[in-house]
Amino acid sequence: MKVAVFSTKNYDRDFFEKAAEGSGHELHFFEPHLTRETAPLARGADAVCIFVNDSADAETLAAVKEEGVRFVALRCAGFNNVDLAAAHRLGMSVARVPAYSPHAVAEYTIGLILALNRKLCRAHNRVREGNFSLEGLLGFDLKGKTAGVVGTGAIGAAVVKILKGFGMHVLTYDLRQNPDCVADGAQYVSVDELFAASDIITLHCPLTPDTRHLVDADRIASLKPGCMLINTSRGALVDARAVIDGLKSGQIGSLGLDVYEEEADLFFEDLSNYMLQDDVFARLLTFPNVLITGHQAFFTEEALSAIAETTIANLTGFEKQGRPEFEVSVEAIR
Ligand code: NAD
Repeated sequence: MKVAVFSTKNYDRDFFEKAAEGSGHELHFFEPHLTRETAPLARGADAVCIFVNDSADAETLAAVKEEGVRFVALRCAGFNNVDLAAAHRLGMSVARVPAYSPHAVAEYTIGLILALNRKLCRAHNRVREGNFSLEGLLGFDLKGKTAGVVGTGAIGAAVVKILKGFGMHVLTYDLRQNPDCVADGAQYVSVDELFAASDIITLHCPLTPDTRHLVDADRIASLKPGCMLINTSRGALVDARAVIDGLKSGQIGSLGLDVYEEEADLFFEDLSNYMLQDDVFARLLTFPNVLITGHQAFFTEEALSAIAETTIANLTGFEKQGRPEFEVSVEAIR
């Protein structure tokens, strides 16, 4: 199949070229995001391969269909950026990479928790300046504290396992229980109970119409004061303006983000020579108890290999059987 690969970085090219060897697929790499405007780049392609900040809305899907595209291969787990109903109407198949390395994201989540709790970034900067004072660096033991994990699929379950290893009491919330988490000693509770009782809350559910702004002003008001909030899932799970108010009041004690609602115009690019235009993001960066990274939780060698291999297998499945192994059906949004 001829495949137009959007939002390509050098590392994508390296891993995809290796995975595609011998597959017969012809990959064409493009740096821009897929949008309505860049859709003509897909001319003559059978498939588009897209990532988290590409847009496959109804208009863009119709535009790439006009160019010959029949298949959308997401090289990520989340599919919130694809209008599945429109794809269904247009007769296009959509596939994703459901679990390329849940450990990559889970381990990174723990990294954010430890770095925030023990103020590692502040401490590192201080020591480089010759400041060895411990003022303001006080953390707390994780052992014996309560963590709340929202969404206990592949990533959430891996997070639960590690948190239990720290000796934490782990509360979980999901639409369905994961027996692995129960076996690991997590306790399923209502979302309200989880938010009210946790010292640390970490989000691992997908972004859907139901979960958009799951953490809003009301939810923040219900938190245990000083709670740590971590989001490595999708930015729009959190209302950033409400979070700023929560940080100012102290209701949120610290915040770790690897994703941001308006990240599409920021993340994955070197913008260090440009003026930051997003005032909400700029305000978040001013807090000493906020740690933000640019959507890198997935970024391990194992994950990139698995993403490329599964995507190539999805392309081959669609080409040979008319159905990719990891198809995202329109039911996923119903
Ligand atoms: P998964 O499909 O294995 O698990 C998602 C879980 O969320 C499921 O158990 C599902 O039942 C649950 N869920 C769905 N709707 C819910 C709701 N309304 N409330 C509570 N739980 C709900 O997915 P995963 O592989 O664990 O990934 C989780 C999310 O992590 C993805 O959707 C993606 O947005 C994000 N992600 C981020 C990165 C990164 O680099 N930062 C990388 C991969 C995935």
